[in-house]
Amino acid sequence: MQQESARIEQAKGEAMAGQARIIDGKAAAAELRAEIGREIAALKAAGRPLPGLHVVLVGEDPASRVYVGSKEKQAVEAGMVSQVHRMPAETSQAELLAKVAALNADPEVDGILVQLPLPRQIDVDAVIEAVDPAKDVDCFHPLNVGRLAAGQGKLIPCTPLGAMLLLKQLMPSLAGLEAVVIGRSGIVGRPMAQLLVQADCTVTIAHSRTRDLPAVVRRADIVVAAVGRARFVQGDWIKPGATVIDVGINRLPDGKLCGDVDYEAAAAVAGAITPVPGGVGPMTIACLLRNTLTAYRERRGS
Ligand code: NAP
Repeated sequence: MQQESARIEQAKGEAMAGQARIIDGKAAAAELRAEIGREIAALKAAGRPLPGLHVVLVGEDPASRVYVGSKEKQAVEAGMVSQVHRMPAETSQAELLAKVAALNADPEVDGILVQLPLPRQIDVDAVIEAVDPAKDVDCFHPLNVGRLAAGQGKLIPCTPLGAMLLLKQLMPSLAGLEAVVIGRSGIVGRPMAQLLVQADCTVTIAHSRTRDLPAVVRRADIVVAAVGRARFVQGDWIKPGATVIDVGINRLPDGKLCGDVDYEAAAAVAGAITPVPGGVGPMTIACLLRNTLTAYRERRGS
């Protein structure tokens, strides 16, 4: 007991002295991809078909091209069949819906991802709703959003799933912890809060209308920042010893990437923190592969 409290005091001291543990998302993502690779190798050895991930890319958005390239590469490395369906920027709504319908109908296709953003002439919600929920590996379809909210989600949005896996690796039980999620987007903030509730945390969702955000964040044992503003969360908002998960990806004028948290200042106070890059980011694609394998097993029954 004495040893335990000494350990906690030492940990607090280390945190105060600027020794926050750095949560290595790159290593965790590599381990998750290796695990998925082993599962796919076992399917292959058993003579089963390989899971297929299909990405639809409309237009030439440079960032989207990079993301899609990484998704395809990592899917193939894990042993999946992966195909990118490239469509011109002037693709009509009807053409894109026809492509989605063809992928829905193809029994070899386990996961469908329509890369966002889409060109202006396309109704994004209509496209998301057109994807077969059983193949919706982004987990954006309203049916999957509802299932997640009801605690019945099999497919989980990739970025929040990645953040949860990092947290659970650090702390096997999150029960009773105070969590503050900054941001309420459908892609990150809301599903993240739902997953934390399901893990028995006491959760606050903060957003642009939150009053006294620093005071709200100071309550948190776990802070998840998904704001989209470079170095927005200040070091003196962080409770000593808290775990900080920085989802933000912001490009600085010098071309470097940074998160939504003032990393140096927060790391001087936190108990553990994710860096940017190298934290949540690498987990997102690994979780996309995890969702593809989940969709495969659910639909093909193995
Ligand atoms: P988003 O849709 O723009 O949502 C941002 C959220 O932040 C909104 O809920 C907004 O509140 C809130 N917010 C804005 N200003 C605020 C303020 N001053 N105080 C408190 N809350 C404020 O962004 P997103 O898609 O969730 O993405 C968030 C960040 O995560 C971005 O940097 C994005 O690049 C990154 N991201 C990373 C990954 C990854 O793979 N690691 C994946 C997705 C996104 P309101 O709702 O009131 O407007």
